Amino acid sequence: MEKSKGKPNGKKPAPEEKKLYLEPEYTKSRITDFEFKELVMLPREIDLNEWLASNTTTFFHHINLQYSTISEFCTGESCQTMAVCNTQYYWYDERGKKIKCTAPQYVDFVMSSVQKLVTDEDVFPTKYGKEFPNSFESLVKKICKYLFHVLAHIYSSHFKETLALELHGHLNTLYTHFILFIREFNLVDPKETTIMDDLTEVLCSSSGSSSNGSGNGSSNSAGAQNHVKER
Ligand SMILES: [Zn+2]
Repeated sequence: MEKSKGKPNGKKPAPEEKKLYLEPEYTKSRITDFEFKELVMLPREIDLNEWLASNTTTFFHHINLQYSTISEFCTGESCQTMAVCNTQYYWYDERGKKIKCTAPQYVDFVMSSVQKLVTDEDVFPTKYGKEFPNSFESLVKKICKYLFHVLAHIYSSHFKETLALELHGHLNTLYTHFILFIREFNLVDPKETTIMDDLTEVLCSSSGSSSNGSGNGSSNSAGAQNHVKER
């Protein structure tokens, strides 16, 4: 592939700019061909909330790390708004007030608020016998929505830098794993993720189309507790 499509410096992108991250030679890149669809399913012996908590925390750390690899390129100048393709996201403060911010500020808001939640013993209890709060699921959904925005921003605005660092295989793997996880437990409204459907289709259908036929049709995740898996 030619590396000089669309200058990043100052020129506004053409409306029909090609999405580099959809190029087959890049979407093929993964660090593993593991069957993520099975990996995300609730294991028989594990409590649903425990499973959601541990996966959400892990995704938070991995997405934070992936973003940190390109964070020096994600500045108030290069990314004046939190944009994904042609959509702009705004942060809402604790009172619900809309805040206009740059992408790095937005990501900072996301990461610091998620950090606060996952380390809050009342929200993500780690001590034996401590219960999850009633609001747990809605908080997990919120976290996943914001983490999705961060991943989508890396693709739409920093894929070139990710490629230059040769970390696109990691990004694709992380994205695939994350999308299959949020789908499995209906954690993010599909309308929210539509913006990346073109990529999701390429990445997740190739990874998820296991032909062994032993699955129980888990593409519809309505009954997370019914995932009794025969081995
Ligand atoms: Zn950025």
